[in-house]
Amino acid sequence: MLAFSVRALALAVVPKLGPRFVQSLQQKRLKSLVRLAVERSPHFRKKYQGIELSRLSLTDLPPSNKAELMANFDSVVTDRRLKRAGIEQFIDNPENEGLRYLGQYIISHTSGSQGQPMLVVQQPRHLELLFSFQMTRGNLGKVGPAEAIRRLRQPERMAAILLGKDFFPTASTFQNMPVQAQRYVKLRRFAQTDPRLVDALNEYRPTIITAYASVLESLALEAQAGRLKLEPELRQLVSNSEVLTDRARARIEGTFGIRVLNNYATGECTFLTTGCRQGRGAHVNADWVILEVVDEKYQPVPNGTPGRKVLITNLANTVLPFIRYEIGDVATMGVENCGCGNRFPRVEHIAGRDADAFWINDGPGYRRVISIVFSHAFEFLREVREWQAIQTERNRVEVRLELIPGASYDPERTRHLIHRELSEHGYQGLLEVEVKVVPRLLPDPKTGKFQRMISRVGLPDDPARVAAAIG
Ligand SMILES: [Zn+2]
Repeated sequence: MLAFSVRALALAVVPKLGPRFVQSLQQKRLKSLVRLAVERSPHFRKKYQGIELSRLSLTDLPPSNKAELMANFDSVVTDRRLKRAGIEQFIDNPENEGLRYLGQYIISHTSGSQGQPMLVVQQPRHLELLFSFQMTRGNLGKVGPAEAIRRLRQPERMAAILLGKDFFPTASTFQNMPVQAQRYVKLRRFAQTDPRLVDALNEYRPTIITAYASVLESLALEAQAGRLKLEPELRQLVSNSEVLTDRARARIEGTFGIRVLNNYATGECTFLTTGCRQGRGAHVNADWVILEVVDEKYQPVPNGTPGRKVLITNLANTVLPFIRYEIGDVATMGVENCGCGNRFPRVEHIAGRDADAFWINDGPGYRRVISIVFSHAFEFLREVREWQAIQTERNRVEVRLELIPGASYDPERTRHLIHRELSEHGYQGLLEVEVKVVPRLLPDPKTGKFQRMISRVGLPDDPARVAAAIG
């Protein structure tokens, strides 16, 4: 317990130490990760053949991706007892929820909203890192021994609002919260689908709520309506997994009068960032993970410019190495130093994942329509509570709008805003958009995440034409 607390407090100091210190830490950890991968993983031994370990530079290493790691899973992992078939069998049995695989590993899988799900194997110390980061770097209060003692005397009450129990990364994280962290923060898990959620929260009086952005937004509406009463004890709100839109942030912060910490993470690296305590976005936990924003050809993109992909190197996970592992996020890094005191790089904006895009026909090739086109239009409409765009045919999209109860709706203005965005992005005449007002939009029952972009036609079947379109 003492060791955990001292380590956590030390982790609070590292982000203040400046880039040179962190770079040398990254280099040291990268070398030992790559050395271990080459020693114990047949897949990485072959992949990194000819790479000089003593003069290793991150960009010498070829990127990796989900399809590659899943296809070669058994030779990718560094513990030979781990087998893809065995792990899949383990997660297929609901009785194994909350149990450790082989008595030691924490298993989860990504939602598959970006195609095939990725199996993730973690060690308990990865969750120790995650909760230590949250308690120190992601703490809105003062961090230090005095605060630690206060919390030991009177632990925070955290409400984690999840989609029941499962092997999804968020659920598995809270199921495996380290016991040391539970001395500081009492955790209660709630199901986001529970019709009694608001009453249950009123009864529990959480001081911290962590939930998907769409759930926090609906709680804000419940509070506005006077049904949810959490003030003045509520001290912290944490948004996970989903993209937090500017509109949602304004609505949540305006209602509860406190900041939303917006963590950007992935199942492959749950401790990727910690939401900034002051500015926009989230700081990369750069002592334990390297995040690169790159273009289509894996070349670095300058800060302030959106990239096409993100590469993640998880320096802590030595069981299932994620080294320059590709995720299809459109990220923009912040240009300036952040006023919050955290000197780690800051992800300023996430425009959405590859799943949040439609491919449409444009002459001989295809073009990608990203969710910004719709979100820009609907974030100007205050009467809209939530929106969803469904690609019903290649060049046809049905937009569904859920209105705030009692709000009046102007179809003419909606059409005008959509057409303005379409022409601004050069889709005028290419994409047919039909708008429908529906009583309620609900999260995907399988993943618990709200999906704003749903394609019924999928990716184009001719990848060569897509590649040509990307250029
Ligand atoms: Zn900051």
